[in-house]
Amino acid sequence: MENTEGQKLKEELFNDKKTGWEGMSEEIRSAVFKFADEYMDYLNSSKTEKEIVKTSKDIFIKNGFVDLNEKQDLKAGDRVFLVNRDRTIFSAIIGQESLENGIRMIAAHGDSPRIDLKPNPLYEDSGLGLFKTHYYGGIKKYQWTNIPLSMHGTFVKSNGEKIEITMGEKEEDPIFTISDLLPHLAAQQMDRKLKEGVQGEELNIVAGSIPFEDEKVSEAIKLNILKLLNDTYGIKEIDFTSSEIEFVPAFKAKSLGFDRSMVAGYGQDDKVCCYTALRGILDIGTPKNTAVCVLTDKEEIGFCGVTGMESKTFEYFITELLNKADQNRPNALEKVFHNSKVISADVDGAFDPSFPSSFDKTNSCFIGKGPTIVKYTGSRGKSGASEAPAEFVAEVRGIFEKNSVVYQSSELGKVDLGGGGTIAVVLANRGMSVIDCGVPVLSMHSPYEITSKFDVYQAYKAYEAFYKG
Ligand code: MN
Ligand code: MN
Repeated sequence: MENTEGQKLKEELFNDKKTGWEGMSEEIRSAVFKFADEYMDYLNSSKTEKEIVKTSKDIFIKNGFVDLNEKQDLKAGDRVFLVNRDRTIFSAIIGQESLENGIRMIAAHGDSPRIDLKPNPLYEDSGLGLFKTHYYGGIKKYQWTNIPLSMHGTFVKSNGEKIEITMGEKEEDPIFTISDLLPHLAAQQMDRKLKEGVQGEELNIVAGSIPFEDEKVSEAIKLNILKLLNDTYGIKEIDFTSSEIEFVPAFKAKSLGFDRSMVAGYGQDDKVCCYTALRGILDIGTPKNTAVCVLTDKEEIGFCGVTGMESKTFEYFITELLNKADQNRPNALEKVFHNSKVISADVDGAFDPSFPSSFDKTNSCFIGKGPTIVKYTGSRGKSGASEAPAEFVAEVRGIFEKNSVVYQSSELGKVDLGGGGTIAVVLANRGMSVIDCGVPVLSMHSPYEITSKFDVYQAYKAYEAFYKG
């Protein structure tokens, strides 16, 4: 039956977004599922910021990228990467145009909320060996108790010797966990506000319970744990001083739902954008403008520090591109930044039908409707946002539409309810045009985050189109 005039007009004028699964061809569907399988493998081997750099570096190398330090000069089509202290990786494909005409960059972050050990973590109490922790990033603390945790650690001895330990990922490995109070005795705890339900100092990790056999020695359980660590890795208690020990959920990423349409997995904020930004740059040939992919660290605690997006190591990377392409001169770096176009690829909280009152439904992003453009972040009157100018939003939207990328646009939650920021602001402050665009996530910052396989695939398509320009 022919549509009525009103129906036709509505179709033409409304911005009604359907789920991307509707009317999908078999060919796209199998591409979506294949991509998701590869993404889940990446998630399972990249739970920490160091692991994501290692895994990503391997993918770059397989795809013809070489360490920038090994290149004397650069020409169009050259593929390079630079690793900053094992925690951030910058990569680039040199474009046909001069760098001064700007780069096209996608930046995502590889760090995710987790449980870190304190500097003097190991203690013994009431028959248990325990670790004291300090959480990293914004978490709902109660979500991190009673789940299997794996340990991903680096000890560096004072002589520089590095010992990497991963425990809890292999089937035969032991796991760790944080205990919580039994409901029978939790009357007082249940009266606490949810945010104090489990407090920071209560996030203690159970690490052992067998004492070292010697009646004369005190803290024998702690001693036994240290002996095990010493026997296997040569570690003493003092070595915790110069260590980074991270505890993350031990479970693997899995397909979610009868229809397997979603991915449940730890750390998808923002490893989903890392993977899609990385995959997006691999097959673009020699782009017009130099394409840059950044997987940065320390986003979850404010972009700061020597491996965060604020670090001048980023300037160092771009300057080295200028030097080796023989294009450097006074102010060249500033000119590159001024003419550059950037997607800050970070996830957004998807509308959750179980908690509708926290969202403005007409301005939320939804699982399954593609990556979402976020014009501004911030909170309470857009404070702290680097709001993208409408002209730049239009340009990015135009690229997506030309390439048949399914996308949506949103802001995070209701006005004045909360908010958040991304690395967009630190890139905009350098003089670059920046917009946020990333994958919608349910249960964001929880130990088991949810994304749609369709959105993951579309983000990859969106980023690829953006690099090409
Ligand atoms: Mn993020
Ligand atoms: Mn986050």
